[in-house]
Amino acid sequence: MKPEKLIPLSKPNISEQDIQQVNDVLRSGMLVQGKNVSDLENRVQQKLKTNYCAALTSGTATLHLALEILGVGIGDEVIVPAFSYVATANVVELVGAKPVFIDITTEFFNIDETKIEEKITDKTKAIIVVHEFGLSANMEAIMSIATKHNLFVVEDAACALGAKFEDVFVGTIGHFGSFSLHPRKAVTSGEGGLLVTNDEKLDRQVRILRNHGISYETGQPDFVEAGYNYRMTDFQAALVKNHIAELDDIIEQRNSIAQDYFNGIKNNLVTLPSVPPYTRHTWQTFHVLLANNDLRNKAIDYFFQNNVQTNYGAQCIPEMTFYKKKYNLNSASEFPNALNAYKNGLALPMFELMNPENTEYIITLINKFK
Ligand SMILES: *Cc1c(COP(=O)(O)O)cnc(C)c1O
Repeated sequence: MKPEKLIPLSKPNISEQDIQQVNDVLRSGMLVQGKNVSDLENRVQQKLKTNYCAALTSGTATLHLALEILGVGIGDEVIVPAFSYVATANVVELVGAKPVFIDITTEFFNIDETKIEEKITDKTKAIIVVHEFGLSANMEAIMSIATKHNLFVVEDAACALGAKFEDVFVGTIGHFGSFSLHPRKAVTSGEGGLLVTNDEKLDRQVRILRNHGISYETGQPDFVEAGYNYRMTDFQAALVKNHIAELDDIIEQRNSIAQDYFNGIKNNLVTLPSVPPYTRHTWQTFHVLLANNDLRNKAIDYFFQNNVQTNYGAQCIPEMTFYKKKYNLNSASEFPNALNAYKNGLALPMFELMNPENTEYIITLINKFK
């Protein structure tokens, strides 16, 4: 039966206790980068079994600092998947370097590791690998290419907090791992980002640069870099910190909804996503492919008329005007799989508070779609 209210694509799971904790911070008057921020950082660091975690203002800020600290800048090239949220490439532009796009595989929507090496030049400095929609890329292959060519690896795990490659949490494998806490992600602080690393020196630079370049190393505060203000507020950390302990439950619930979709969806016009054996998927997004662009757009309208919000999944970045013009790119010939995923992809509702009747209703709608 058609629900009275729109079933959204996603919905943050905010508890009374979260609201209470935010209120406590507001009443305390200590609003920025206080005890809740360090609690959050400690919890993430322990959960992911990594040495260091710093909370910042967004997933874009974390990626930006990671590149800057690794010394990526003017004249350098950075390998980037052609299908992601556009921020993955924007941060390369922000530090003055050039993104070199690599097509994805249609099976997993992640970078096609077999196409990386042919694009490596003597200017290549780093690879940004994206774990698209919460699915780990093939980190074994990517780390071995990076080691062979002496490249840095930044994991854009914006959608993949808690995802694993084999038994290891993604974000902890490369030189830096970046997570977003935007409300479209499974765990949210409103705006926010987490930057993890196992390297003490890199983490020290993060803490200096996120706070205007300040260092306390000589005992006296001094400004040793021209830094940024990328500090998280303490009420944002208070909103999200309990969800780190619940991460396994959150991922399990999302996997259960994904399983319902897998079991229920039966329509020849709709291709379901694939999951490789090496991974724990967080199902940030359940992303299916329609047979062509007209059908995909028709599906978005059809769902909306039936009170279900859907959307395309991510961008084919080389197809976006800025990149297309600046680098004279032809997505259809150079990045056909990324273009296909962008034009024909459809993200279905996925959030923990979704009840089984919602899922059943959505499955029935999909199966009737023609
Ligand atoms: C959401 C997202 C970002 C940006 O994160 P913000 O917190 O919104 O800045 C970057 N990369 C990917 C893959 C994302 O999904």
